[in-house]
Amino acid sequence: MKRIYNFSAGPSVLPEPALKKAAEEMLCYGTSGMSVMEMSHRSKAYESIIYGAEALLRELMNIPDNYKVLFLQGGASSQFAMVPLNLIGKTGKADYVITGSWAKKASKEAARYGKVNNVASSEDATFSYIPELDKSKFDPDASYFHVTSNNTIYGTRFVDFPDTGNVPLLADMSSDILSRVIDVSKFGIIYAGAQKNMGPAGVTVVIIREDLIGNALDITPTMLNYKTHSDNASMFNTPPTYSIYMLGLVLQWLKDLGGVSAIEKINEEKANILYDFLDSSSMFKGTVAKKDRSIMNIPFVTGNEELDAKFIKEAKENGFENLKGHRSVGGMRASIYNAMPKEGVAALVEFMKEFERMN
Ligand SMILES: *Cc1c(COP(=O)(O)O)cnc(C)c1O
Repeated sequence: MKRIYNFSAGPSVLPEPALKKAAEEMLCYGTSGMSVMEMSHRSKAYESIIYGAEALLRELMNIPDNYKVLFLQGGASSQFAMVPLNLIGKTGKADYVITGSWAKKASKEAARYGKVNNVASSEDATFSYIPELDKSKFDPDASYFHVTSNNTIYGTRFVDFPDTGNVPLLADMSSDILSRVIDVSKFGIIYAGAQKNMGPAGVTVVIIREDLIGNALDITPTMLNYKTHSDNASMFNTPPTYSIYMLGLVLQWLKDLGGVSAIEKINEEKANILYDFLDSSSMFKGTVAKKDRSIMNIPFVTGNEELDAKFIKEAKENGFENLKGHRSVGGMRASIYNAMPKEGVAALVEFMKEFERMN
């Protein structure tokens, strides 16, 4: 068996120690005599798994006590509806910053339930930068202010987050949660699908300040009400039990490695290896504004579609998978989430150098 370097944008590479532990425990978890997949979510054994995962996340992100952690289904995409259903009723209005197609989808969904103010957008240049935010365009009466912290498809990120005063700041952190230290207390809600930087697909993490729970619109389905899940410790119905177990193993790996500040340093080193090469190469170049560069998703092009295709094909033959850019932007994209080892990025750059020399 040979594992390759997987640069997929999601579902994406997972840390090997977590996968090995899952393999060891596949047939029998602890003394339970069964696989985690076969367990009742009401059992003592499973309770320790789900509460353990929550405790690890609280510790790693330093989540204050007045925040709930919810493990939900439906992906980050369901949060695009859950957020307005639960929050927009306060004033009927919400602010969104449009920095990519995920942000656009979120804003569009919210517009079904209230009045949406798109504060700024970078769509004029294929979302290749984070727009300057003009505070006079913020609605002081908005129920919340929504951003996408890292734009998975385009490879930009908010280096700093806007100060929204008394309006709760909400962030879709699907592709950079746990990649850098953030101050949770600055946010009203943080949500993220697990399959990019936290675990397998199937579970979505919502970190929500308690006072934002319990104000849902009357039309909100029971399953889409944060209160339902908050009141029942994410076990109102059957949670995605195995995905939560895997999430816990990934969090344990991150803790053993030194936590978020340790991985942030490694992530910056990894991103610099690739960006330094892109800045010096005469064949490959990055596609976004330098000041807004993501440390998780790094798109690049040669400027020649045929050459891009040749590169992707030869990279695959050499053990570098999933480097094709998103269909909406083309070119290449290397997603280098927490679990991508530094050696993987270094090896990719060596391969790119060789490709440049040969072509
Ligand atoms: C992948 C992604 C989504 C969609 O996630 P699903 O879990 O597939 O619904 C939303 N937002 C961002 C920033 C993403 O990267």
